[in-house]
Amino acid sequence: MSISFDFRGKSVLVTGASSGIGQGVAAAFARAGADLTILSDTDGIHAAAAAMHGRAKAIKCDISDASAVTAALANIERVDILVNNAGLEKPTPLSGTNPNGDATFERVMAINVNGTRNVTDTLINRIPDGGRIIITASIWAKTAVGGFSAYVASKHANVGLMRTWAQELGPRGIRVNAICPGWVKTGPAMASLSELATTSGTTEDGLLADVMSAQAIHGLMTPEDMADTYLFLASDGGHNITGQAINVDRGEVMS
Ligand code: NAD
Repeated sequence: MSISFDFRGKSVLVTGASSGIGQGVAAAFARAGADLTILSDTDGIHAAAAAMHGRAKAIKCDISDASAVTAALANIERVDILVNNAGLEKPTPLSGTNPNGDATFERVMAINVNGTRNVTDTLINRIPDGGRIIITASIWAKTAVGGFSAYVASKHANVGLMRTWAQELGPRGIRVNAICPGWVKTGPAMASLSELATTSGTTEDGLLADVMSAQAIHGLMTPEDMADTYLFLASDGGHNITGQAINVDRGEVMS
C-alpha cells in the first residue's frame, strides 16, 4: 500500500538509511520528490544513494562521534525534516562478568541515545520554524524483553528525548514525534529473534508464531510498510501531532 505525498522543495535527512527501515523511508521520501540526504556509518550508504538514481546525497559518518557529525553535516544549509533512525540492536544480558563496563552496552547507548542527540543538536539551528523531527524508537520503548537492557533503555530514552524536544521546540512550531515499530523484517530484528529463541529454548519459527499471535493483525512487517507513517507525520497532515510515540506494530502493544 502506498499513499501519495509531495515533498518537493523540502530538505530531508534520514540517518541509518543504508539498509532496513531507514532505506525504506528514504526511498519513499525520494519518490515524493524530497531534496534528500542519507547517512550511515557504512559504505552501503553510497550503494543506497546510487539505488535512488541520483535523488539522494550520501554521507558516511558514525553518529556516536560528535566531532565527526559536526564535520560531516557542515555543508548542509537547511533540514526541514530530520529522521533520526540510525540505531544498533544487540543483546546485553546481565552476566556477572563485566560489572565495570560492557562495551556492547556502551556502544548501543552511544549510538541510539548520544548519536541521536549529536545529529539533532548539530542541526537544530538549521531546522527552520515549522520543521519536523522524527525518531525511530521501538515498541520496546514501551515494553521490555529480557537480555536487551541497553537497547530497551536506549529506546525508552529516545521517547524521553522526543518528549523533551517537543516541549522545547514547540514555540518554534517544530513538531517532534517518535515512531515505535513492532517486528520489521530486517537483519538486526531477525538476529534478535534468533537470540531470543535460543535463550528461551524454542525455535525461531515457534517464537515468530508467538509474536504474530500477540498482534491484532498478524504478520511480520517490512521496511516499506513503515514509510507511510513517517511521511504522514512529516506532512501537513500531522500538523497537530507532536510529542507522540506512535506504535506501528499491527496492534501488538496498545499503549
Ligand atoms: P538496520 O541495521 O538495517 O539499520 C540500521 C541503520 O543504522 C543502518 O543504516 C546502519 O548503518 C545505521 N547505523 C548503525 N550504527 C550507526 C552509527 N554509529 N552511525 C551512523 N549510522 C549507524 O536495522 P533496522 O532494523 O532497519 O533499524 C533501524 C531503526 O529501527 C533502529 O533505530 C532500530 O532500533 C529501529 N527498530 C527496528 C525494528 C525492527 O523490527 N527492525 C523494530 C523497532 C525499532
